[in-house]
Amino acid sequence: MRFVYHQPVPDFYSVDNPTDQDRHVSDVFLREFEDIAVASQFAGVSYSRLDDEFKREWDIDWDNIIILKYHMSEDILKMEPSREKCRLEDAEFQEFGAKTFALADILRENGFRADLINPLDDRVSLRAIAMQSNDAIITRSGMCMFKEGLNLGLFMIKTSIENLPFKTENDLLWVPDYCSTCGVCIDRCPENAFDGDEKILRKVCTAHRKGCSRCIDLCPFYKRGYEKVRKRYLRMKK
Ligand code: SF4
Ligand code: SF4
Repeated sequence: MRFVYHQPVPDFYSVDNPTDQDRHVSDVFLREFEDIAVASQFAGVSYSRLDDEFKREWDIDWDNIIILKYHMSEDILKMEPSREKCRLEDAEFQEFGAKTFALADILRENGFRADLINPLDDRVSLRAIAMQSNDAIITRSGMCMFKEGLNLGLFMIKTSIENLPFKTENDLLWVPDYCSTCGVCIDRCPENAFDGDEKILRKVCTAHRKGCSRCIDLCPFYKRGYEKVRKRYLRMKK
C-alpha cells in the first residue's frame, strides 16, 4: 500500500458528461484548452494513449488521458519537513485539483467526456500512465520528471478524445544514464531510503509522511533545469 498524505479532492464538477460524446478535437480547440490550463498556472499539458497491454495489466477500459502538470511551490519545497509543510503541500494539491475539475467542465461543455482520475486511487498508477505519454521519465530518486521540471504534481483527465497529440518516442531516455553518474539523491538522503541496488524504498522515504524533499532540492535537474543538464550530459558524452 502506498502512503496517502493528501486529502481526497472534493467533486467540483458543475457540468455533466454529454450523452453523445465527441471523439475528435480540433487543433484550435486543443490550443485554447492548453492556453487556459497555462493561464490557470499549470506548467504544461501532456497526453497518454494507454495501449491494450497496459489496460489489461491495470484492469481498466479507458485509454485517452490528458495530463496536467503543476510546479510544486519552491518556497514550500525548501521548508524543513514538518506538519505545516505537509499542510501547505496538500493545500496546493487541493487548489490544482479544483482547477482540474474546471478544465474537465470545459471539455464536457464542448461535447467531450471528461473524468478526473482519482489521484489517490491505488488501483492505477499515475506514474505508469505518465510514462505512457513518452514525455516523462522516472529519475533515480523515484520522481516522475517531465521537461518542465522535477518538482511536478500531476492531475489527469480521462477523455473520449481520440486524436490527442500523443508522442510516440520518448526523448528523455538518456536520463537514467546521467543519473548513474550522479547519485547525489542517494548520498544525501537523510533516511538512507535506498536499497543495495540503489532503488528507492518507499516505506523508508519520508516525503509523503513528513514532507521531506531534500533529494528534489539537491538534484541537478531541479537546480539547473532539464535543458542545462541535457547539454552537460551531451558534453560528457563527447
Ligand atoms: S540527484 Fe542525481 S541521481 Fe538523483 S535523480 Fe537527480 S540527477 Fe538523478
Ligand atoms: S524525499 Fe527525503 S527521505 Fe525520501 S528519498 Fe528523498 S531525500 Fe530521501
